[in-house]
Amino acid sequence: MRRLFFSVLILFSSMLGFTQNQSSSGVPPYKNSNLPVEQRVQDLLGRMTLQEKVAMLSGADWMQSVPNERLGIPSIKMADGPLGIRSWAGPSARTGGMSAKKQVTTTAFPAGVAMAATWDTQLVESQGRAIGQEVKALGRDMILGPTVNINRTPLWGRNFEGYGEDPYLTSRLAVAYIKGVQGEGVIATVKHFAANNQEFERHRVNAVVDERALNEIYFPAFKAAVEEGGVWSLMSAYNKLNGVYCAENSFLLKDVLQKQWDFKGFVVSDWGSTYSTAGTVNAGMDLEMPGGEPMKGWMKEAKTKEAGNGAGWLASDKVLPEVSAGKITASAIDDNVGRILRVIFVSGQFDKPHTATGEVDTPEQRAVTRKAATESIVLLKNARNVLPLDSTKIHSVLVIGPNAAVARTGGGGSSLVVPKYSVAPLKGIQDRAGQGVQVTYALGAAMEGEDPGKDSPSERERLRSEAVSAASKADAVIIVVGRSPKLESEDFDIKSLDLPAGQDELIQAVSKVNKNTVVVINAGGPVIMSKWIDQVPAIVDMWYGGQEGGNAIADILFGDADPSGKLPVSFVQQWEDSPAYGHYPGKNLQVEYAEGIYVGYRYFDKKKVEPLFPFGYGLSYTKFDYSDIKVSPNQTSSDKPVEVSLQVRNTGTRAGAEVVELYVHDGHSSVDRPVQELKGFQRVDLQPGETKDVHFTLDRSAMAFYSTAEKDWVTEPGDFDVLVGSSSRDIRLKGSFTLAP
Ligand code: BGC
Repeated sequence: MRRLFFSVLILFSSMLGFTQNQSSSGVPPYKNSNLPVEQRVQDLLGRMTLQEKVAMLSGADWMQSVPNERLGIPSIKMADGPLGIRSWAGPSARTGGMSAKKQVTTTAFPAGVAMAATWDTQLVESQGRAIGQEVKALGRDMILGPTVNINRTPLWGRNFEGYGEDPYLTSRLAVAYIKGVQGEGVIATVKHFAANNQEFERHRVNAVVDERALNEIYFPAFKAAVEEGGVWSLMSAYNKLNGVYCAENSFLLKDVLQKQWDFKGFVVSDWGSTYSTAGTVNAGMDLEMPGGEPMKGWMKEAKTKEAGNGAGWLASDKVLPEVSAGKITASAIDDNVGRILRVIFVSGQFDKPHTATGEVDTPEQRAVTRKAATESIVLLKNARNVLPLDSTKIHSVLVIGPNAAVARTGGGGSSLVVPKYSVAPLKGIQDRAGQGVQVTYALGAAMEGEDPGKDSPSERERLRSEAVSAASKADAVIIVVGRSPKLESEDFDIKSLDLPAGQDELIQAVSKVNKNTVVVINAGGPVIMSKWIDQVPAIVDMWYGGQEGGNAIADILFGDADPSGKLPVSFVQQWEDSPAYGHYPGKNLQVEYAEGIYVGYRYFDKKKVEPLFPFGYGLSYTKFDYSDIKVSPNQTSSDKPVEVSLQVRNTGTRAGAEVVELYVHDGHSSVDRPVQELKGFQRVDLQPGETKDVHFTLDRSAMAFYSTAEKDWVTEPGDFDVLVGSSSRDIRLKGSFTLAP
């Protein structure tokens, strides 16, 4: 209505003879927040010189776009993410992580994989909201997150940032994160588009991915981010996809993103991922980062050259000659700059700049990170109900391991947040234990590569013996093992799925002398457990739990909270069982995604490989019964949704939450399809004895596959099974429906 009103007003004003450049009040239309955004964009573009437009195509420095003082166009001030706001020194300096001279301390949220283990879209939305508030509080405008690349191989160094192996789960969480961030008027950036699934040679490698795998596995979260999340920005990936660098890949950026998905925001390059001028601009890569002097200095560094980064291609001195030569048209420039301007208007940044007056790490934001850390914890094994620790029987607890006394809040690289405080597992356990339980500590094993003095075989032996002797006297032992940001990080892949040096041996030795040994895993993904899994009664995965990880694990170990996390990624028994094994990290800078759509559980189900722990798996201290599944109608046409309802009851004596998972099986397809695919999930909180109804609506997307013949999503008439359960391998209820021809 308001839009219509102002359109009529404009028409009327122009009839009265006002020039297009000037409204009656003297305020140019682009400054009028009451006018439609498209009109403001066009008006502003019309006032800019070619030089001014071209200047906006590359960054001003490390973390800011180029402003235009003459016209009052603000610079977009970015903050690295996605697990909170990364530290940077000064307003725009090159981000320096832990080594930055002046650190910005912000809330460290659990890693993306941990957030995915909560299966809690509302919680992820509140995380997004909290991050959006912090971005504003620091006077920034844009967060470089979420990361939605699929966990193709458990060795990818950045798996901890993403939401696991399933495109549906990843899509739901990406949309939630974006809504949270953008609801605060902060620009979210979904990254890295596309097929950025390994760090090894990330600047040079060519990912060869077939069309179906792209559409069914690697694209859905980006598509949902655009179509459902309305994301304002998207970051292109470093690697090549099917022979073309992602930043100049017109199939990705023009055909898929703009034409198929109708993306209206702007694409930002990954930092140093451009290799051409006209090709990049014409492909629809709108903003090259970094830019200016910081970029020039960085490009001279030997390390940058060796890594294979490319930058500086969209600087004015490169772009303007290409425009003169007719290789870039004025309308291509207008389209790209128009996208940046559109986001500046739509996000509210133009009209209400972020003034850096808010607070960071507020009690509310801390509460979100604590809840998330707690909900993310997955109970993998609990023989003899060793957990929760029973304080009437357990009077002394020994806490050991390289990750016990240090808070490892996240993995390494650009996502690493420096929080104001962080709680290590030992501290959380000490604070919680109370007077009746004595908590002691021994290192047991140093983190590989952290302290050369403790890395030698003899020193390892000594530390281990010390721990074993203490373990033999304790009622229970908690061993916190895992990786560190130096072993699991952006920039390189994980060298092995085995636990780092000395950790397996520590678990083996300690579990021999203490039957109440609990292993806590503090890492971004699966680790190999074959050397000790049968010897320990309890295993808990706390991922990287952010600044509150230590309190959260204490809550779970002592039973103050019920473990309710479920695995967003299958745990393999051995690396050789992984779908990508044999097709990773590629040869001659080429990695063939030969497993196609068979990623994660899709592969384990199809090839009948037994994972160590399946996708969607996680135990609880209580028990849930599933009953009364109803699928209606049992015959449908492709545009009519199917309703699924069932009941879940907490039959135990403790309060808990169950993640109900819904998979669809298509048994009649003309093409090869996965045995089952996740198409719905819901977290249900239940008091002891309580029953709740759970509903799902399945639309056409729950039945469709991507047809390479039709170049579209296709549904085929026939019978579909609806499988509802507690994990992908613990299906409790089955129903079915028929899709009519
Ligand atoms: C990463 C991005 C990050 C950017 C800026 C790149 O190396 O791949 O995820 O946002 O740096 O720090």
